[in-house]
Amino acid sequence: MNNKNIDFNNPVVMGNEINYVIESINSVHISGDGPFTKKVHSLLEKEIGVSKVLLTTSCTHALEMMAILLRLKPGDEVIFPDFTFVSTVNAFVLHGAKPVFVDVRPDTLNINEKKLESVISSKTRAVVPVHYAGVACEMDFISEITNNSKKKIAIFEDNAHGLFGKYKGKYLGTFGDLAAQSFHETKNFSCGEGGALLINNNLFIERAEIIREKGTNRSLFFRGQVDKYSWVDIGSSYLPSDILAAYLYGQLEQREKIQNHRMNIWNYYYDGLKDWSYKKGFQLPKVPFYCEQAYHMFYLLLPNLKIRQKFIQYLRENGIYCVFHYLPLHKSKMGRNYVDNPKNFPITDRVSNQIVRLPFHNALTKVDIDYVLENIYRFNY
Ligand SMILES: *Cc1c(COP(=O)(O)O)cnc(C)c1O
Repeated sequence: MNNKNIDFNNPVVMGNEINYVIESINSVHISGDGPFTKKVHSLLEKEIGVSKVLLTTSCTHALEMMAILLRLKPGDEVIFPDFTFVSTVNAFVLHGAKPVFVDVRPDTLNINEKKLESVISSKTRAVVPVHYAGVACEMDFISEITNNSKKKIAIFEDNAHGLFGKYKGKYLGTFGDLAAQSFHETKNFSCGEGGALLINNNLFIERAEIIREKGTNRSLFFRGQVDKYSWVDIGSSYLPSDILAAYLYGQLEQREKIQNHRMNIWNYYYDGLKDWSYKKGFQLPKVPFYCEQAYHMFYLLLPNLKIRQKFIQYLRENGIYCVFHYLPLHKSKMGRNYVDNPKNFPITDRVSNQIVRLPFHNALTKVDIDYVLENIYRFNY
């Protein structure tokens, strides 16, 4: 038998990461907001076209900063897709939000924008679309709904999957007042653990800098805008070490190479599975023509839970590691507390039983994918 091993994820060095880490350590500025953090900020600001980027210790923390920036009052509601990672919601609940879940679309698995209007109330403060798999949510429709509401409703994007993806020619992360990125090792670009807050609405900049710096106006002090810094608001320590920023800068410099490679992997999977999945009645990812996806993952929707589990087990026996994810939040121990009718989420319920993510990372080769495909073709149920 073949004893090949195909990892689900493998975070690899893609360029100058190690040299930059050494440079950072030698620079005697290894705490936050050193030279490499500044390089990452300006690279992302220029490349994506946002007014301000602030690196954070994680995407979860960038989401927490959003929640603090909202100045939530008791009973305030924030709207989320039911099919997402826990952090999207938990970060807001931690800072006082009452979460409201919306079912997802059966094609892109993004928040179902058509169901948004029915859950908006006088307490709604924000909608948090998650661009699942780096494929954009229906931003025109979502913006129209929030713009038409009597009270201001903010759009905050969870763009953990979507860096460098586009919707109708415009980068993801530029549609909301704020957006959150992740540089966790499972994402396209990584520094192990890390994230960023993207600020498109300048009204949020000053307070975001304060929240990120333990509630102090230290950023104004460093820019010479105040002559001493002190405690001016609530906050925490959300800035990462410059050593991590150095690693991340090495990754981001290779953005073209990384995104091209991931596009090739995605297309190779897609072409290899098109006919087979049609015959078997398995669903492949759907990408609307006006979306340029970020190539974050490749997934399949299998007919049911039993076949999905068998598929994962079978591939594992052949050294191929696949995963599934996102138990529906409305069914979780925490989520249940916020849901009146658990029958409102049929798509999340179905998809979370059917989905399987194939190995997808920056070190994957054509030979690896051929091996995965050959094994998938041999799968019987
Ligand atoms: C990975 C992920 C997060 C959390 O990212 P961290 O950087 O690990 O905090 C949040 N939302 C989504 C959709 C994610 O995939």
